[in-house]
Amino acid sequence: MRISDDERKRAVAELREASTGAYRHVDSLDVIANSIGVEVDGKFSHEVENETYAALADLIDRPTCHLVEDEDGRTACSECGCTALYLLDATYCPDCGSIIERPW
Ligand SMILES: [Zn+2]
Repeated sequence: MRISDDERKRAVAELREASTGAYRHVDSLDVIANSIGVEVDGKFSHEVENETYAALADLIDRPTCHLVEDEDGRTACSECGCTALYLLDATYCPDCGSIIERPW
């Protein structure tokens, strides 16, 4: 599953909030699942558990990309095709959030 940068930022904000004790009286699996975008309602707890583990793995396993030249000669992200002007200076793609791996 591909996680957008916005989803990643939302998850971080939610987990930081949880770390302050804000959700102390809520089941921790529910808090974590909600933080990382796993739907809890109407599911068995083992389903929520499995989806939460998978979503956590996806969050940690941040995708990588490299810079390619598109058919118009512009510098582009190899994963999403984003051609933002500052890609050359960026450490990650502003569109899909992949970490840009460079040969240098
Ligand atoms: Zn990209």
